[in-house]
Amino acid sequence: MRLPVTSVQVTEVERVTPRTARITFEAEELDPGVGGSPDQQVKLCFPRPGQDAPVLPERNDDAMGWYQAYLAIPEAERPWMRSLTVRRRLPGTRLLEIDFVLHGDAGPASAWAERARPGDRLGLVGPSELYARPVPLGSAVAAADWVLLAGDETALPAIHTLLAALPAGTTALVFVEVADRAEEQPLPAPDGVAVRWLHRDGAAPGRPLTEAVVAAELPAGTPFAWLAGEAAAVRTLRRHLVEERGVPKASIEFTGYWRHRFTQDDAPTAEDLADAREKSAQATAD
Ligand SMILES: Cc1cc2nc3c(=O)[nH]c(=O)nc-3n(C[C@H](O)[C@H](O)[C@H](O)COP(=O)(O)OP(=O)(O)OC[C@H]3O[C@@H](n4cnc5c(N)ncnc54)[C@H](O)[C@@H]3O)c2cc1C
Repeated sequence: MRLPVTSVQVTEVERVTPRTARITFEAEELDPGVGGSPDQQVKLCFPRPGQDAPVLPERNDDAMGWYQAYLAIPEAERPWMRSLTVRRRLPGTRLLEIDFVLHGDAGPASAWAERARPGDRLGLVGPSELYARPVPLGSAVAAADWVLLAGDETALPAIHTLLAALPAGTTALVFVEVADRAEEQPLPAPDGVAVRWLHRDGAAPGRPLTEAVVAAELPAGTPFAWLAGEAAAVRTLRRHLVEERGVPKASIEFTGYWRHRFTQDDAPTAEDLADAREKSAQATAD
């Protein structure tokens, strides 16, 4: 299996909320069979100052080879790389939609998205099972009594695709934390799905979300839980579900999407490394 690394060009930019830019990209190459499944992550490569387009790692035939190729690019030219989610793959085209949270100019992804215009170019790594294991949604939901989805605005694109893929009749509780009311977005909410919006309104990231889940009356039985967003909040939620609600670890998919006060380039903390070990043990057990 080859990992696709390709160039993408912006075709459309839409502000869907004051702090969300929905950007449509056309990929130079995109396998027609990928990118349409729920919770599909990709990596985007952003140009360094002075570059019109990022220098891309060479394609590679093994899972981590592409990353070695990325590291081999001289540091001053090496693109910033960030993880994003495919919100929508437009069928029959090479178009992908990605929602960027605009959190200011501190990060290259957010700063780029704030100013993106049709014609701008980035690099795309993936979508591919080579580095991102798809959530086993069908089997996980079949084995569970109900579904819990909890995250912040960075998790909204994934939550959107997960909700759209839930089997009819699934009981699901969804908790989404956003900056304020203006950041709410329409979500698919079939029968049985209840969505609770939580507004930070200046509170610390992750606090409204963790407080709401901890205080919530949850349905009986074992859920399949999917958690994503600020890493410390995700860790708190997972601990709460395991230690106070008795949810088996194997029933919880969790990913720290970003770290308060750390960039994606900063070294992982001891807690990040512990999370990564747990996730890889879980993936091996599946
Ligand atoms: C699998 C996966 C899927 C993801 N999908 C999406 C997606 O679809 N859309 C999306 O917008 N993000 C998504 N993210 C999160 C995104 O990768 C991070 O927010 C990333 O840090 C943004 O990069 P940056 O260059 O803007 O900021 P960085 O350079 O990484 O960080 C700069 C500063 O900004 C802060 N920061 C970073 N993100 C946020 C934020 N969201 N709110 C407030 N402060 C922040 C950091 O704490 C740091 O202080 C995903 C992450 C993962 C792992």
